[in-house]
Amino acid sequence: MTEVYSFDPLIIKTPYEITYKHSYGKTTKFFTSLSDGKLMATRCDHCKQTFLPPRSDCPYCLRETKWVQISGKGRIHTFTTLYFSGEKFLKDLPFQLVYVELEGVDTLFLTRLKTKDMKKVKVGMKIKMKISRDPEWRSSDIWAEPDE
Ligand SMILES: [Zn+2]
Repeated sequence: MTEVYSFDPLIIKTPYEITYKHSYGKTTKFFTSLSDGKLMATRCDHCKQTFLPPRSDCPYCLRETKWVQISGKGRIHTFTTLYFSGEKFLKDLPFQLVYVELEGVDTLFLTRLKTKDMKKVKVGMKIKMKISRDPEWRSSDIWAEPDE
């Protein structure tokens, strides 16, 4: 059922739903490992680089990478506060997104920070990654929390 809010300009409200069928392909192990409580990255032994988000092939030498478990501990590289988001997270606003430097990883990882006090968040702050015990097989199954 479409609702009309105005005619000039024409603004309507109409239900909209899409069902996605999505393959994680070569990054499947990242998500299936989360259900085992493990945070996995990929590593190129040739270039000695570890990637998270995982990359099935090294962007430098194009060799296939291997899976390695990481601790999930790290520090905030930078952060921002969101006052608007996709529908799934509207109830949680405002919240913070952070790029984190994780131990043993050479790339930055973008994730959500869950904290009780957003005013204490700062660059360099220690964090630890947390994994949902009720996986939805999405990137929201993991997040960072302050490591106090
Ligand atoms: Zn490489």
